[in-house]
Amino acid sequence: MAEHDYDLVVRARRAVTPEGERPAAVAVRGGRIAAVLDRGAPASAARTLDLADDEVLLPGLVDTHVHVNEPGRTEWEGFATATRAAAAGGVTTLVDMPLNSVPPTTTAAGLAAKRAAAHGQTAVDVGFWGGAVPENTGPGATGVLRELHEAGVYGFKAFLSPSGVEEFGHLDPDRFRAAAAAIGEFGGLLIVHAEDPRVLAQAPPATGRDYASFLASRPDTAEHAAIALVIATARATGTRAHILHLSSATALPLIAQARAEGVPLTVETCPHYLTIAAEEVPEGATQFKCCPPIRGAANRDLLWAALADGVIDCVVSDHSPSTVDLKRLDTGDFGAAWGGVSGLQVGFAAMWTEAAARGHGLADVVRWMARRPAEIAGLAAKGAIAVGRDADLAVVAPDAAVRVDAAALRHRNPVSAYHGRELRGQVRRTLLRGTEVDPDAPHGRLLARNEG
Ligand SMILES: [Zn+2]
Repeated sequence: MAEHDYDLVVRARRAVTPEGERPAAVAVRGGRIAAVLDRGAPASAARTLDLADDEVLLPGLVDTHVHVNEPGRTEWEGFATATRAAAAGGVTTLVDMPLNSVPPTTTAAGLAAKRAAAHGQTAVDVGFWGGAVPENTGPGATGVLRELHEAGVYGFKAFLSPSGVEEFGHLDPDRFRAAAAAIGEFGGLLIVHAEDPRVLAQAPPATGRDYASFLASRPDTAEHAAIALVIATARATGTRAHILHLSSATALPLIAQARAEGVPLTVETCPHYLTIAAEEVPEGATQFKCCPPIRGAANRDLLWAALADGVIDCVVSDHSPSTVDLKRLDTGDFGAAWGGVSGLQVGFAAMWTEAAARGHGLADVVRWMARRPAEIAGLAAKGAIAVGRDADLAVVAPDAAVRVDAAALRHRNPVSAYHGRELRGQVRRTLLRGTEVDPDAPHGRLLARNEG
C-alpha cells in the first residue's frame, strides 16, 4: 500500500512548463509526472526536492543528434561516456546516429548490435536512428528499411555527400528519391545531411592550418543545392523530411517558402553554429572543424533570426567526437582532421549564454532543445513538464558561471571547441524518470519508436 500520494515532489520558484515559466510543484509517481501543482500546494510525497532560490526547473533536454560510435569505434566515444556527458549537461534523452559505429545501424541486426552494446551502461534514455544507404535502398531492398522501422528506429538518416566513413555510403539523387518514397510508404521520417557532392567537388580542397581554406571547401551553395533537392523530394513524395545541422543561412528563404506551402519539412541547427563564428576560429584549431562548417558572424545572426521565427525548429548537438590524434591538433591541418564538434555536455550552457544575450528566455531554449526535438523524433513521453510525461528534469542555475575545461568534460576524448569559454548556466542535477542520475548506477533505458 502506498503511504504517499506521490514518490517525489519537486518545488521550484521557477519551472519552465509548456504554458511558460511559473512557480510549481511537480509531483511524480511511477516515474511519470502525475501533477503540476501550485508551488505551495499540499502534497503527500515520499521525498521532496526544494530548489534553491537561484535554480530553475526545466524538462530534461532532448538531443536527437549524437554519434555514440559504439560498437566499433568505442575509442572515439561510447554509451557510458556519452550518456554521462549528457546527464551532466541536463540532457535526459539522446538519439544515437546510425553511423561511425561498426556495424552501422542500417539493418535490424545492426540495431540489435547497438542495443546489446548499450545495454546496462546508459545514464540517460537512448533511442536510435536508422540509416538509408546504397545497400538497403536498392531495388528489392526496401524491406530492410521497413524491418528497421518496425524494430523501433525513429527515422532514417541519409547523406547526399560522402559521410566520412566508408561503411556508410551516400545516396545519389535518384536513389535518394527512391529511399524517400519507400520510407513514406510506412510513414517514416527521413533525416538528411544536406551538402551537394558536385558542389563540394568543385570547391578548392581544404589545406593547412587556415580555417578560411576549410570554410571555402564547404561553400553555402553546397547546402543550398542539397536542401533544394530535399524539399523537392519531400514535396513530391509527401515523406516527412528533416534537415540536419543547418549551417548556411542562404537556404533559409527556400526553407521558409517550402514550409509556408505545407511541405512536410523540419530543420535543426547546432549550438556551435549559433555561438561561434568563423572569424573567431584560431589558426590550426581543428576542434572547430565540422561539416557543414561554422560560418561567419553575419550568417550566425540570420540563423538566430530563423530560430526566433520558427523557420528553424530545434537545436541539437551533433556531438561527433573522435580520438585526439584523429583531430590532428598537433599539426592543425584542417584538411586531414576528423570533422566533428563534441558539444553534448556544454550545449545548454553555450546556447543559454548566447540566447540570453540576444534577449531570449529559458522558455525559448526549452522549446528549441527539449520540446521540438522530442516532437520531431516522435518521443511523446519526453520534452515537457506536463502531466503524463516522463519525469525527466534538469535543475539549472541560469546565472551561475561555468568555465569549460575540455579535460573535465565527461565524454571520452578531451577535445572541445568550447574549451576555455566562460558561460552562464550551471546544470546542478538531472533526474531521469524521477530518480536523480547517478553515474555509478546508470538507470537509462533503451527506447524504441513503437514503445511510446
Ligand atoms: Zn552528425
